[in-house]
Amino acid sequence: MSGFLASVAVDVPFHSAIGQLLTYRHTQQLVPGTLVRVPLGHRQVLGVVWAEQQATAAGLDEEAVKPVSEVLDATVPLRADWLALIDFAARYYQRALGEVAMTALPSALQDQTATQWAKRVAKVLAVPKARAGRRPAQAQQGQACVSAPVGAPCRAALRKPVLTAQQQAALQALQSAGAATTLLHGVTGSGKTEVFLQLAEQVLQASDDAQILFLVPEINLTPQWQALLLERFAPWVGADGVAVLHSGLTPVQRLNEWLAVHQGRKRLVLGTRMAVLASFARLALIVVDEEHDASYKQQDGPRYHARDLAVWRGRQLGVPVVLGSATPSLESWYNSRPATAEEAGGGYRRVTMPERVGGGSLAALRIVDMRNHPRDTVLAAPLLAAMRARIEAGEQCMVLLNRRGYAPVLRCGACGWKSDCPHCSAHQVVHKAERSLRCHHCGWGTPIPRHCPKCGSTDLAPLGRGTEQLQELLQEQLGTLALRDGRLAQVLRIDADSTRHKGALEAHLAQVHRGDVDIVVGTQMIAKGHDFRRIGLVAAVQPDGALYASDFRAPERLFALLMQAAGRAGRDAAYMQQGGEQAQLWVQTHEPQHPLYAALARQDYPGFAAVQLQERRQAGLPPYTYQAMLRADARTQQAAQAFLRQVADAARAAQWPAARWVTVYAPVPLPVQRVANAERAQLLLESTSRKALQAYLAALHPLLQQARANAPKGLLRWLVDVDPLTI
Ligand code: ADP
Ligand code: ZN
Ligand code: ZN
Repeated sequence: MSGFLASVAVDVPFHSAIGQLLTYRHTQQLVPGTLVRVPLGHRQVLGVVWAEQQATAAGLDEEAVKPVSEVLDATVPLRADWLALIDFAARYYQRALGEVAMTALPSALQDQTATQWAKRVAKVLAVPKARAGRRPAQAQQGQACVSAPVGAPCRAALRKPVLTAQQQAALQALQSAGAATTLLHGVTGSGKTEVFLQLAEQVLQASDDAQILFLVPEINLTPQWQALLLERFAPWVGADGVAVLHSGLTPVQRLNEWLAVHQGRKRLVLGTRMAVLASFARLALIVVDEEHDASYKQQDGPRYHARDLAVWRGRQLGVPVVLGSATPSLESWYNSRPATAEEAGGGYRRVTMPERVGGGSLAALRIVDMRNHPRDTVLAAPLLAAMRARIEAGEQCMVLLNRRGYAPVLRCGACGWKSDCPHCSAHQVVHKAERSLRCHHCGWGTPIPRHCPKCGSTDLAPLGRGTEQLQELLQEQLGTLALRDGRLAQVLRIDADSTRHKGALEAHLAQVHRGDVDIVVGTQMIAKGHDFRRIGLVAAVQPDGALYASDFRAPERLFALLMQAAGRAGRDAAYMQQGGEQAQLWVQTHEPQHPLYAALARQDYPGFAAVQLQERRQAGLPPYTYQAMLRADARTQQAAQAFLRQVADAARAAQWPAARWVTVYAPVPLPVQRVANAERAQLLLESTSRKALQAYLAALHPLLQQARANAPKGLLRWLVDVDPLTI
């Protein structure tokens, strides 16, 4: 036969029987990483050449091999390190190679013909390369940049602060860490960001083409980071030298940004978890901010963890990775443990910044013992009084409640009917402003009924509280307060409902920053990362739930959230120095003696982590063990569990060597058992050996496919979640 064969990754789900790679032929040899369009069924799809094949592979029906339709060779091929990353992620997270590759590539690439692609690439490459140079561009007119040595940064253009001694020490430690992964544990306000920036500056300065990846957990944190990076580094990288990669971009925007990064035209890359899968020309540093944040874990499709892939990528490329947090994940904390007499140290380095910049003190904890207040108290009197005093002093308050909507359920006082979602084992939440009941699991919405659907009574009342009701209550209690400047106190709610429209969050945040708002009410959304200046008091209204949750990570998440929230307060060092009152974190609890709150009062992350790790070690939980969750959705709970049981039984019968090291638990329903009419069951796999668990999962895959094929007709979905974050 004439020509060459190539193994090509296309988007075929792991569940299908088709193998990982498909074979196509072409007149010339195609190097791995080449983008191609190939026929698949009746469609033309994007593919990535994964490997060259021998011209005559044994057992191959050459006539049946289809030719490559087009080669998208206007760009350099995807590099070997990217192919290796995708290969690793696919194996580790138990997904198809092509599926992970297509997740990583911008979706708009899928419909580019070779001609269109060539045009687009030419356009991106037309941007003058000079902008990507090492030397800062000439200082803008009017900007003083005198007698700077050639090649050295222009101080006037940079306007960077002088590092504190603590920052200086951290920066030096990071520089000397070489290609290692370092956990930068710094309390909120310790100036981690500035350390990241100055480390980045050195990388930019050291070479003409080095690229830096900054990962942030949420899209809404990207604008402030982008502004910061541009303000600081535009002299090096140009006014549009920061590539942004997140799911909020249009497909074409994402394509252009991806391309600029792939071609090395943009040296700074800022993004959410998906950015870790980008293709870089020369990646030289990865910074993962708020590394503990659960948003780094993808929760559908390939369930990868961006922080973990960042660490893998850094190791593979031999470039440094810096993980920053005030409340590291217990995994990273453990992985950065110093060596002791009994135990070897973790593989990461650890650098600590315990002090705030300017010495500002952290928020003081005020516990409100809710056992001393009437049962239906939402905001205890002392808390309201403290908030009033703060607002009158010109400060802002932040009130946290991790439940959006007006009330979690509507209830009939006459017959006890509750607003259950017909499709889920969950209540429909009362949304008063939009006059609807809405299920937060499947989205099912109905108007709020006037009469009970069951008995006809009009005695319907919301039960429990959400952010919407809290806002109403605060409006009643404090919204009538006349402030010094004559205005009335303003209450603003920030949660997923109030920020659904594009630009709404930015507008809300700007209001807070401007000081137009005195009280911000919201979900955890407001506790993350925002540098609010005038917050003097933060209150968690009802945080106890996490103490009783079945998920062993719930306390870790609560502690992180409250520390983050406390970190929002008292950030204005100048105000504090002028004798401003110390910032406070208020917690309303029925468990005032709980060790979590005691550690919180001391702002003692290491103490909290030590206790948690000891518990995890005793219970045999991560980071001392590795977990994978096998999930099945079916029409009935019985069918879902039977599927899992059948697979587990088949695995047991196979007696794989790895099975000795893997504990297989019994199938159980998920905490929310039914969603959108699908019954959900899960089975936990656990091992002290990551390798054994991986081997077990790889062997399990064909059994899952087989069981799926043999299952009776009807709904049956399965998935594997490796290193699941919720149990
Ligand atoms: P973190 O990220 O650790 O919570 P930030 O980086 O937000 O802390 O820093 C807290 C505040 O201190 C920011 O307003 C920042 O601009 C300021 N800051 C950081 N480093 C310095 C410094 N060396 N000198 C003066 N101000 C600084
Ligand atoms: Zn009723
Ligand atoms: Zn529902």
